[in-house]
Amino acid sequence: MIEAQNHIDGKWSTKGSVEIHSPSNTTEQIGTIPDAGESEIDAAVRAAKKSQTEWQRLGYAVRGNLLHQAASRLEANLDLLAEVATKEMGKPILETRGEAARAAAILRYYAGEGLHSVGDVIPAAKADTLQYTTREPLGTVGIVTPWNFPLAIPAWKLAPALVYGNTVVFKPAELSSLSAYVLIDLIADLFPSGTINLVLGKGAVAGEALIRHESVNAISFTGSTTVGHHIAEVAVGRGAKYQLEMGGKNPVIVADDANLTLAADMVVSGAMRSAGQKCTATSRVIVMDKIRSSFTDALVQRVKELSIGDPLDARNYLGPVASQAQQEKVENLINTGAKEGARLLVGGSRASNVSQYGYFVTPTVFDQVSIDATIAQEEIFGPVVGIIEAHSVEHAIALANNVRYGLSASIFTNSLDTAMEFVNGIQAGMVRVNEETAGVELQAPFGGIKASSSYSREQGRSAIEFYTHIKTVAIRPPKA
Ligand code: NAD
Repeated sequence: MIEAQNHIDGKWSTKGSVEIHSPSNTTEQIGTIPDAGESEIDAAVRAAKKSQTEWQRLGYAVRGNLLHQAASRLEANLDLLAEVATKEMGKPILETRGEAARAAAILRYYAGEGLHSVGDVIPAAKADTLQYTTREPLGTVGIVTPWNFPLAIPAWKLAPALVYGNTVVFKPAELSSLSAYVLIDLIADLFPSGTINLVLGKGAVAGEALIRHESVNAISFTGSTTVGHHIAEVAVGRGAKYQLEMGGKNPVIVADDANLTLAADMVVSGAMRSAGQKCTATSRVIVMDKIRSSFTDALVQRVKELSIGDPLDARNYLGPVASQAQQEKVENLINTGAKEGARLLVGGSRASNVSQYGYFVTPTVFDQVSIDATIAQEEIFGPVVGIIEAHSVEHAIALANNVRYGLSASIFTNSLDTAMEFVNGIQAGMVRVNEETAGVELQAPFGGIKASSSYSREQGRSAIEFYTHIKTVAIRPPKA
């Protein structure tokens, strides 16, 4: 049992009474979280604001060193982090272990990032003037995260925010608050009071108070497109900087000349790992008519063999989806898919044979999905993939682009020409060839276009664009 608390101004506050149960076994209570509101957010923002100047003055080297120490703490506790995350949101243990390691690697990456150059020397009209740019922190940053990457997403927002000299108030999703608490509990004492504040509460209450707080200079958000667009409106209304990473409807194109074994393996991994609950999950497979039948057979055979069950058992490929609401949403979309005429090839039901006390959904494949169908347009966020037929690569790219999202996209082909036609024509922020749609590396920019993003980027060097502003300086020596 984990009794999670808020962390405000260096102090842990009263435990909460909201019960958290495991999605793989709802009879097991795994912890409690507080239900914080406006007053806790206000206290956290005040603490962050008060400590920011001192934190900035410490300089990059000291801040980077603290991030290195934080990374070491995470590395020493990968099993703990993985177990809590798996119990809390149902992702299989090998995946959460990898995610915990990635969170540590992200802290290390940004620990070093603070030592890179941050500006340019620019020629000035007056020959004796030194003109240059530097980067300054934004001040207090509000961090709002989803539940599907309970460790990595907080890490890739917290680390750049901190290394560039901002202080933070972090509000994780209710479904990943225990993981957030354990993560912050492992590292908080390394940092000066007020630098990292954690507030646990509902999105509509604590989250809303955070995005509206006048002393929050910037908001970094990952979550659904609906909430993201609401945050954008609030932020614009009060002149705060914002960054949104939102939903996806990620396509894979399988060309005539593709290695079908590789394509089928990568579609299974992209669509079914984390029970499909990745913003970059493969959701549509657009297959050339000539090879549709052989690709479909290969895919269905693999999906039938997937083991679903207790996510703490490393032999299981899929655990449950994260909540009852997720399970109902995915089931409704599966039913809509069948009603709208798609052909169900495998899955399509609640996996009640696994456990009646968990939110398990059978991995599902639909064929003959029309491009206008709800399951071809809406983000499902579950272990469901739909096959759409195309008659040429050009047609496939047009179908792939015919959605409101544009996060990640892949093609499987052995032709460089086809690969380049895809790279140039696809509307997505992250484009991959002979790779699954998920899995962008931490040192590379991450983000989407269209309804998937505010067109900003996270990870790698691009994080500096959001977490700092440019200051242009011109210095003329005083006359002797
Ligand atoms: P969500 O939008 O429901 O919640 C995300 C966060 O916003 C939570 O912390 C929630 O408490 C908070 N929130 C909710 N209402 C709020 C409000 N009015 N004001 C401020 N904060 C509020 O999303 P979710 O269900 O937690 O996560 C799933 C979604 O996240 C999916 O759509 C998925 O595609 C997306 N996602 C995107 C990326 C990406 O990088 N593009 C990565 C992971 C997940």
